Amino acid sequence: MECVPFSKVGGMADVVGSLPGALDGLGIESTLFTPYYPQIHRKEAGNEIASFDVWIAEKPHKVRLRRVADGAVLVDQPTAFDRPGVYDDPRSGEGFKDSLFRCVILQQAARIALRDGHLAADVVHCHDNHTGLLPVYLKDDGGPPSVYTIHNLAYQGIYGRGEFWVTGLHTDRFFGHSAFEFYGDLSLMKAGLSFADLVTTVSPGYAAEIVTPAHGHGLDGVLRNLGDRLVGILNGIDTGLWDPATDRALAATFSATRIAGRRQCTRALRERAGLKDDPSLPLCGMVSRVTHQKGLDIVGAILPWLMRRGAQLVLLGTGDPAILDLFRGATGRWPGQVALLEGYDEALSHQVYAGLDIFLMPSRFEPCGLSQMYAMRYGAVPVVTKMGGLKDTVLPFDDDHPDGVGVLADWATAESMQGAVDYALTLFGQPEKWKRIRKNAMQRDLSWAKSARAYADAYERVLRR
Ligand code: ADP
Repeated sequence: MECVPFSKVGGMADVVGSLPGALDGLGIESTLFTPYYPQIHRKEAGNEIASFDVWIAEKPHKVRLRRVADGAVLVDQPTAFDRPGVYDDPRSGEGFKDSLFRCVILQQAARIALRDGHLAADVVHCHDNHTGLLPVYLKDDGGPPSVYTIHNLAYQGIYGRGEFWVTGLHTDRFFGHSAFEFYGDLSLMKAGLSFADLVTTVSPGYAAEIVTPAHGHGLDGVLRNLGDRLVGILNGIDTGLWDPATDRALAATFSATRIAGRRQCTRALRERAGLKDDPSLPLCGMVSRVTHQKGLDIVGAILPWLMRRGAQLVLLGTGDPAILDLFRGATGRWPGQVALLEGYDEALSHQVYAGLDIFLMPSRFEPCGLSQMYAMRYGAVPVVTKMGGLKDTVLPFDDDHPDGVGVLADWATAESMQGAVDYALTLFGQPEKWKRIRKNAMQRDLSWAKSARAYADAYERVLRR
């Protein structure tokens, strides 16, 4: 339901938007298929390539498919998509009362477009619960094979059994324990897992975690049953879009070998955030959805200690009001030392990554995480919990591992995080070591190259089946 450059709530949008470019480099042609939200109308109407009705129960809903300049196909269905917000509530991902209707419109449109020849595909790649129905429709139609990617197992697309009719599928055939049913309700995530030809998730670490009861969100049994049909493929980042050497959003550009401009970025960030301009103070911060998952309350819990330790802190984020209140309170208690930049601001996020010394990401779970990768590329040393994709991307730095890129906390607890931040601050106080770790982080290969190859292998695998 989200994909850069058309819409974005979190990292999935970046991934879905940048994977096609990486696949293109391998000679794989792909077409993005995503809703036509109002923020796109202003920029681009595209060419209408098809129009048809999607029937839900007895009612037709007119859908127009619009192909835009970069080849993406957008689904224009005003009742479903002509409104602001992707999910309306980024915390649950399922905020709109008619969420299921919107998901069904998108996926029936894809199904009909493929079935009636408006679009052609050898393989269909679906992303997260909002597209978990499409593998079922394709199986039902004898359509192309599908790959289904779990970006975040916590958002499962659970709806009451009474809403099953919206899917247009036969209850007897599909609403069973081995299909949609999840404790009496219907789960779009489970549908995707059960009907796709191959399931991937966004890091090997997360793939290993979600088959355990502790991290499986109730679906660990279904995931274990997939066996080798569950594969972890680490996300990459768009290193063209995210390049501090050319980034026009920054006060000054810089790179791992021409670092001078970075100081200007740090100064500009302090000024923007209203923090005291003192380069000897380590500047810590986060760019994040403010949710329980991201553990920002843990940063809140160690804040008094962090302030005594002489650090500054800036948070760019939006979400849970209680956690935001905590940081708002802190800006009053420690003026010039703590700043809250509340809201969602893409350009500002680049400026924060480029200005921070230390990037904090104490996630309670993290399927992959892109923020820590952007932070590394922009020279902010990550301090993260040892979860999912964080442990796959942040190699720890210490005297035995001088090629490390960050610091890992064993647990998402205040005590563990405080220990990790303390170690990072100690390293910050040793300029030679600090330069080294920062350079390691900036030079780490975070590109799509290896992962795009892994997706190509996944597509070949389902084609052979
Ligand atoms: P998730 O997808 O769980 O939110 P990721 O780390 O994978 O976490 O991706 C988060 C993405 O959203 C990153 O691109 C990050 O820069 C961006 N982001 C999060 N909060 C904000 C914000 N307030 N303003 C701008 N960008 C943000």
